[in-house]
Amino acid sequence: MALEEVKNWFLANRREFPWRENPSPYEVWVSEVMLQQTRASVVVPYFLRWLTRFPTLEALSEAQEDEVIKLWEGLGYYSRARNLLAGAKEVVANYGGALPDTLEELLKIKGIGSYTAGAILSFAFHKKAAALDANVMRVLARYTLFQEEVTRGRGKLEKRLLDLLPEEEPHIVMEGLIELGALICQKEPKCSICPIASNCLALEKGMEGELPLLLKRKETVTLHRLVACIESEGFFLLKKNEKGKIMADLWEFPFVEKGEKSLELFDKLLGVKLTLQRELPLEKQFFTHYKVLLYPNYFLSDKKPVEGYEWVLKKDFLKLPFSSGHFRIARELLKDEK
Ligand code: SF4
Repeated sequence: MALEEVKNWFLANRREFPWRENPSPYEVWVSEVMLQQTRASVVVPYFLRWLTRFPTLEALSEAQEDEVIKLWEGLGYYSRARNLLAGAKEVVANYGGALPDTLEELLKIKGIGSYTAGAILSFAFHKKAAALDANVMRVLARYTLFQEEVTRGRGKLEKRLLDLLPEEEPHIVMEGLIELGALICQKEPKCSICPIASNCLALEKGMEGELPLLLKRKETVTLHRLVACIESEGFFLLKKNEKGKIMADLWEFPFVEKGEKSLELFDKLLGVKLTLQRELPLEKQFFTHYKVLLYPNYFLSDKKPVEGYEWVLKKDFLKLPFSSGHFRIARELLKDEK
């Protein structure tokens, strides 16, 4: 049988994760959305916290967006959390609170794309379905010697995947392929210990290093930002980013591009007199193709109202959803409390 070796290897080597223990469709949905762009070990505590707070799809559908964002804090790409909430409301309104079990219906739900739909059908409903993530694309492109750019050739790869999946327990092979890509057929493939090496066409042709073919990524741009953590009488000056803008609904300290005139820029932006106390440790933040270096400084000032900003009590930091880099700065400031 095709890919029988993957099944045996996976059953003997699978890593234990809370979303792998007989998951409900809702649990697969939440875990797969969290796992996009994030390592599994990082996702575990988020997944457990999420299910404690929102054990069912109905519970999630009744949540306030602020609370959902707060629970997501640190995972980044917050539109995923917003889409989960919007999708949960749709499922309650249109499907009586139960995720449907067909590709066509799943794809109608906000935030569910072809990968997540395939994962739900496979891991929760045990159907023969293609969950084609970057790991599986890499394995298949090599194993079947797929010599087109994989994103453009996604449809063809999905067909190859469905042809390879067995009729019986296809979900085990599907999950096994994801695990194989994560642990063995990595960017630098470990062919010597790969369970499907004997049938791998890329290995046979010596092309495992050249595949998969990928679109050229946009170059990363580094930004340098001076961040002002401004305290007055136990309050800090913060801003909630506007809807529709980058980092929408997330809280941040005031910042300006770092340069010789940074302090003058703060003067212009805020109109409050700042007295520098100390520098805080450098933090990094990543979004789309940007790498942002944050240089936080701790200032004291008068507590004057500043348009577009709010004075927030330091002890309330833990209630607010911050963007990831600013969250780490807030955590650093909270250390002073201990
Ligand atoms: S033999 Fe090597 S290239 Fe082929 S699937 Fe296994 S790890 Fe990947």
